[in-house]
Amino acid sequence: MTRPQNLCILGATGSIGLNTLDVAARHPQRFRIFALSANERIDELAQLCQRHEPRYAVVAQAAQADALARRVKPGVTEILIGQQGLERIAAHEETDCVMAAIVGAAGLVPTLAAARAGKKLLLANKEALVMAGPIFMHAVRTHHATLLPIDSEHNAVFQCLPDSFRGDLGGHGVRRVLLTASGGPFRNTPLERLRHVTPDEACAHPNWVMGRKISVDSATMMNKALEIIEAHWLFGAAPEQIEVVVHPQSVVHSMVEYADGSVIAQLGNPDMRTPIAHALAYPERIEAGVGALDLFRIGQLDFVAPDFERFPALRLGYRALREGGTSPATLNAANEVAVSAFLDGRLPFLAITAVIEAVMDELGPRPLAGLDDVLGADAAARRQAGMQVGAMTV
Ligand code: NDP
Ligand code: MG
Repeated sequence: MTRPQNLCILGATGSIGLNTLDVAARHPQRFRIFALSANERIDELAQLCQRHEPRYAVVAQAAQADALARRVKPGVTEILIGQQGLERIAAHEETDCVMAAIVGAAGLVPTLAAARAGKKLLLANKEALVMAGPIFMHAVRTHHATLLPIDSEHNAVFQCLPDSFRGDLGGHGVRRVLLTASGGPFRNTPLERLRHVTPDEACAHPNWVMGRKISVDSATMMNKALEIIEAHWLFGAAPEQIEVVVHPQSVVHSMVEYADGSVIAQLGNPDMRTPIAHALAYPERIEAGVGALDLFRIGQLDFVAPDFERFPALRLGYRALREGGTSPATLNAANEVAVSAFLDGRLPFLAITAVIEAVMDELGPRPLAGLDDVLGADAAARRQAGMQVGAMTV
């Protein structure tokens, strides 16, 4: 029997990280928890270390490393610190599989390190791909990394494409990729009400339980904007080949339309353990702890066109993709600053996309030749967004 795969989970204490541990723990003969990381939730990381006894645990700062060291078994778990620690576990020669589940731009460098080390790379951290698409995909190809999408829509598209798919939609007779979107908690909320929504209301997603940043992204539909760009890089889809379909039940996770008129969809309960298990075991199928889909209880599946007036973020996603260069990195960084200001109660909900659009207008697209250009665009957009937030502060 082959030995278990060594799993490295970047962002182990988050929603995707914990779901990954849940699936992996169901299959101890297949997976061994080799390395875990967290940022601030050290208590949670300590509990995970006690339960899974990883070889490495990574925290953000030295003081947290001391606090964690007192709570892990000596001689079992080595504690590493910061970006260097993350890069080390992602590229470690004994790591077989990396789950990239850090939220936001902070995940870019370690996720890229995993790609450059040619790992089996499970990508939840869509922001990394949005920011650095061409650089990231070049690293995947050059170093023969196996890239598997975790985002439920992209995992669904991946499942609906032929096994032989190698990044050429036309060559495989694909006409369009149809990304479904629940429409978030404010799909039908009167526009006037949206001015006053609170962070807790924005984070109360009707179908999915997720971290707070992506929950706000779902409420503005910036999440779908990021996913349009993600689909472009993962599948080589041109902007006009990517269509957003609002599907409030979140049962159809996405679809692929072929030249002969066939549309292939992937369905399932809205539970991230399905795409996680799919990618962990790929190309095999394993039990994920997800219940059977009860179509009789669901009864009806609805599909409606997205409302670009209500959700201007969608327009910004297509715009960033068409502009290319540093535009997606600018969009992403401005969004992170604006969402964080909204979650802190410093910015009204409707101002989130206004800040992003103003930053994109101000900075414009610039050529993207290397990682320095990405990081430069990220920093410039954060500065600009900070000023915009200051000007619009509640
Ligand atoms: P969470 O906020 O729940 O978790 C984020 C994780 O990243 C935590 O482990 C957190 O550590 C860590 N982290 C946060 N900031 C930093 C930082 N600066 N440096 C290092 N680590 C950091 O997020 P989710 O699990 O919801 O999302 C993770 C990623 O997956 C995102 O990119 C999201 O877009 C994507 N995704 C999530 C889905 C979901 O259902 N949740 C669905 C599809 C995609 P700590 O806990 O210590 O703060
Ligand atoms: Mg998604």
